Amino acid sequence: MTATLSRPTDSAPASPVSSGLARDRQWVARVAGGAVTGEGAPRHTVCTPLTGEAVAEVPLSTLADVEAAYAVARAAQPAWAARPMAERAEILLAFHDVVLTRQPTLLDLVQLESGKARGQAFEEVADVAIVARHYARTAARTLRPRRRSGALPGLSQVVESRIPKGVVGIVSPWNYPLSLSITDALPALMAGNAVVLRPDVLGMLTALAAVEMLREAGLPREVLQVVLGDGATIGAAVLDRADYVCFTGSTPTGRRVAQAAGERLVGASLELGGKNSLYVAADADLNRAVPGAVRSCFSSAGQLCISTERVIVHESVYDDFVARFVAATTALRMGSNLTWGYDLGSLISADQLDRVGAHVADAVAKGATVLAGGRARPDIAPFAYEATVLADVTAAMTCRDEETFGPVVAIYRVASDEEAIALANDTAYGLNASVWTRDISRGRRIAGAIRTGTVNINEGYAAAWGSVAAPMGGMKASGIGRRHGEEGILRFTESQNVTAQRLVPIAPAFGLDDRRFAAALTTSLRVLKAVGWQ
Ligand code: NAD
Repeated sequence: MTATLSRPTDSAPASPVSSGLARDRQWVARVAGGAVTGEGAPRHTVCTPLTGEAVAEVPLSTLADVEAAYAVARAAQPAWAARPMAERAEILLAFHDVVLTRQPTLLDLVQLESGKARGQAFEEVADVAIVARHYARTAARTLRPRRRSGALPGLSQVVESRIPKGVVGIVSPWNYPLSLSITDALPALMAGNAVVLRPDVLGMLTALAAVEMLREAGLPREVLQVVLGDGATIGAAVLDRADYVCFTGSTPTGRRVAQAAGERLVGASLELGGKNSLYVAADADLNRAVPGAVRSCFSSAGQLCISTERVIVHESVYDDFVARFVAATTALRMGSNLTWGYDLGSLISADQLDRVGAHVADAVAKGATVLAGGRARPDIAPFAYEATVLADVTAAMTCRDEETFGPVVAIYRVASDEEAIALANDTAYGLNASVWTRDISRGRRIAGAIRTGTVNINEGYAAAWGSVAAPMGGMKASGIGRRHGEEGILRFTESQNVTAQRLVPIAPAFGLDDRRFAAALTTSLRVLKAVGWQ
């Protein structure tokens, strides 16, 4: 099938890409003008994985541009932090509306740059809107100054307040070019920080379009600076200057980023890789578990940190589940155009295709059985690969323990919940898990024994991801820190304890000498415990 960049069927205003504007120098120049790029900067040719065609040429940033971006962001941050929280919230709520109204543009761009199916591109639009609304509505409550108990009742008046870190540096990857470039920036900004963002070059048009929408919603240009370029130089330079480091990417790169942040003694949140399991328990409703597992394994062609790569099935339902899962996987509709109505898009790049092909070839050479898929599909798109189900995968095979980050899953049979838990935990990673059971209490018990930052019961990944009032992130080698929930905004602040002492000093008091003061305080502490003081 030859891919076409056909006009989408959305009824909303025509998008720049679908009406051909991505190829229009003016449109690209305007959007790219949203980044800090200097004279004589290198240029990057954006090619779409949908067809392999070049669709735009974008100037990149230099190290001097990174410096300039930080200078502007630093100068603008105090005034931004001084603005009332309600004004910042208004901007996020306006952005929410712009994103939903202009979704055809964003969907086109996400598809064009990532190659994913339109329905999965929509996940990113929904995510951005949900996160914008959430922090607009909750930040004032989360960040409000709080009175705390003093050392001794009545004598110390304590207020804990939250102050912004300053300038937050964000490096985001290519796989969710809209979500991951913007949803960390939103709480950082809401908390009064300025941000310097370096989106991946493979998703930069999407990020730039979203930043343009945020500015249209009222965000001062200075407080969100965008620079463009590779990870090792421009990405590292962004993080090296940040008052707080926010990185999403692979575990090996995350370790390097953590080392550099540790050296400078600045905080960091690192959202890293995963090797995620989905367990189908003996009492699972297979009518829900089969389509749910297929979505969880093959969304965004498996290029999703929280998607499933291990499917673990209780032996009592194994044969039934596997037959239906393989049939549903084989029936997935592949596609490569800017329309709704297909399930599986393309991988993003030749590198990804090589990695996925190598994992499957290695497994097959060592005795794995291919139950579905297993082939590249250049007839669909240059880097397309079939949804692939493997059985008989052993520890000798790369795909047993390494993250494939593609549409390849291995299926395992277990005899008990305990065996399933042990297999789900038998990995260096700890990002996401999924449990399918009719008994939610049993699901919660199993979840409690799995060492991952999120566990979805009767869903693959979207339930916990979309429930942004609660934190998500990785345990073990899947990262440090959390996005979403209170933790997702508190990380961008420093706490400050301001305590005013009244009437008498803390020590020594009442004209007592040291020894008598210690005796009096000891008595007071005993009384405080007895009366239930905190
Ligand atoms: P990667 O680590 O190679 O690159 C990630 C990003 O970091 C890229 O944009 C790259 O340009 C940049 N980078 C590279 N070296 C850098 C450095 N020294 N300093 C600063 N930035 C640098 O990962 P990848 O293969 O491009 O992305 C896929 C990985 O990301 C997978 O492991 C996936 O699981 C993970 N991921 C995790 C989450 C999460 O929320 N936990 C989300 C998406 C992706």
